[in-house]
This record gives sequence, structure tokens and C-alpha cells, in this order.
Amino acid sequence: MHRSSLSILFILSVFVGMILGSEPKCSYCNKSIDGNYLTADGKSYHENCYRDHVQPRCEYCEKLIEGKYNLLDDKMYHPTCYIDHIIPRCDICGGPLQGTYLTDFWGNSFHEQHSSELPECNTCGRWICGELTGGGFELSDGRHLCGICNETEVSEDFLLESSIAYVRRLLTTNGITNLPDDIPITLVDQHRLKQLALSYSDAMHGFTDHNIQTRNGRVVSKDSHIYILSHLPLTMFRAVLAHELMHVYLFERDLDLRSDIREGFCNLGSEMVYKDTRSEFAKFRLLNMEKSQDPDYGFGYRKMSQLLDKRGWRYLLETLDEID
Ligand SMILES: [Zn+2]
Ligand SMILES: [Zn+2]
Ligand SMILES: [Zn+2]
Ligand SMILES: [Zn+2]
Ligand SMILES: [Zn+2]
Repeated sequence: MHRSSLSILFILSVFVGMILGSEPKCSYCNKSIDGNYLTADGKSYHENCYRDHVQPRCEYCEKLIEGKYNLLDDKMYHPTCYIDHIIPRCDICGGPLQGTYLTDFWGNSFHEQHSSELPECNTCGRWICGELTGGGFELSDGRHLCGICNETEVSEDFLLESSIAYVRRLLTTNGITNLPDDIPITLVDQHRLKQLALSYSDAMHGFTDHNIQTRNGRVVSKDSHIYILSHLPLTMFRAVLAHELMHVYLFERDLDLRSDIREGFCNLGSEMVYKDTRSEFAKFRLLNMEKSQDPDYGFGYRKMSQLLDKRGWRYLLETLDEID
């Protein structure tokens, strides 16, 4: 997001004059002025009255302002006090943010140029550097993972097991039931995911392969294999797993839906995990889905999410094959 720290630079105008003829009164002490006087804003003052009581002071150092000053939110600052202490600092290089600068979802503010110098974390959108993320990694498939996301990445079996149990429980509460028990889950890199998926989209973080075995024209077995991107932070891994389990739900019920309705529906599984998690990261990922321009994962998701909000899970599950 673009922000601006622009403030207006003003010049304080004070005129010094000599009294000739009629004696004006000091606008501060109300006594008459003889000799030198000052005018500011069309009013006359004794020099001392002006300096001690009228002349503006810098909001930061409290010393008198003469000549140039910066005005921000009706407060006046010496230009050097303004630059050194008032305008926001860059969270990456520490320098002052003059003019237009960028802010991210996480509340970091920084110079625009850093966004072209630093890699962006693929999962949380932070700019990867020591100051913001404690460093990060480039994975062999070209994805970037920041130090913060790396702390919760799913790479251990026990995290995978506990995630499966959690996601299944969550889906069950909304009527997504009767999923087969042992669905194999394999973590893959992005290259492999692209090979597996027939129509790959950047909004895709997993893929489910479905198989039907028939004998004499009759279905004898159905099975699914879930593939999920490796190195995802725990919450995102769970959201992707929920999405893929929704595919299994559709497959088990022979529901062959149009792609936007199908992916939109499956993204409701991810939405369920993010809303249940309530972390800032979950909010970030949810926002990502809400802003996605992908026809299926973005527009399809919003269509299904609105329908869910309006009619509820039961209606949605009962009328899935009629939705247009
Ligand atoms: Zn006076
Ligand atoms: Zn000052
Ligand atoms: Zn900077
Ligand atoms: Zn990250
Ligand atoms: Zn999908």
C-alpha cells in the first residue's frame, strides 16, 4: 500500500519596522509601542512580547521557529527536527520516509525501492531481509520463504498427522463427512505440482489425484491421493489440506462441477481453517483469497462464500449440483 509523509513547508513572515507618526498598540500586552516593533499576521508587537509569547515554537524541540518550518496535523516543526524525529522511519534501512512510501499488511513501512531489491515471501508477503523477517530462504523450486514462516513450516510427520485430525474435525462440524480414512498425502515442490495439475494456477498450493477402478463397467473402487506444496507454514498447510479434502468430498459424491464452482467450494475449506485460526497470518491469507483475481480461486471463491453466508452449509451441500 502507498502512503505519503508529505507535509507543507512554510515560511514564517515577520517584518521589522520603525514607528513613525501615530503609536500602535502591542497586540500582546496592549501597551503602546515606541521605537522598534514587529508585525506578524497583520498584528504589531513589542519585540520581546513577540519572542516570548507569540512566536511559534517547534513541537518537537520547543525552541523558537524562525524562517522555514514544516506543518503536520496543525503542528509546527523545524525542518531538521521534522526530518530527524517526526516523519516515519523506514523499517528496512532506518532512513526517513520522505514523500511516498510503502506499507505492508504487517504494519511495516519502507522505501519503495526496497520492494524491487528484496524477494517477497511467497506465503506471508513480507519483504525478506534481516530487519523484517530475520532472513529467509530460496527453495530449489524458486519459491521464497521468510524466517518467520519458516518457523512453523510443516516438514515433520507429527505436524502432518495432527493437521489431518484437526482439519477432518473442522470439516465434520459443517457436514463435510464420510471422507475415506486413509488418504495418502505427499509433500511436493512447485515443479512437481505443475506437472501433476492439468491446469496450473499460481493460486494453487495443492492437487488431488482421483482414481476410479471399474470392472465390467461397474465402479469397484475409488481413491484419492493428495499432493501439497512442501515448506508451507502450518496454518496454510491446514488450509490447503482442507481445500483438497473438499475435492475428495466432491469426488466421493460424483459431483462434477464447473471449475469456478468447484474451486470456489473447495476454497470454503481453506476459509474455514483461516476463520478458525484467527491469527494475523490467517487474516493475511484470507485477504489474499478475497482479493484474488483468479477466475476460480478468487471469483469462484467469493461467489461460493457469499452463497454460504446467505444460505448456510446444509443448503450449499444439498444443492451443489444445481448452482450456476
Ligand atoms: Zn507588548
Ligand atoms: Zn525543533
Ligand atoms: Zn529504506
Ligand atoms: Zn513469510
Ligand atoms: Zn482445488
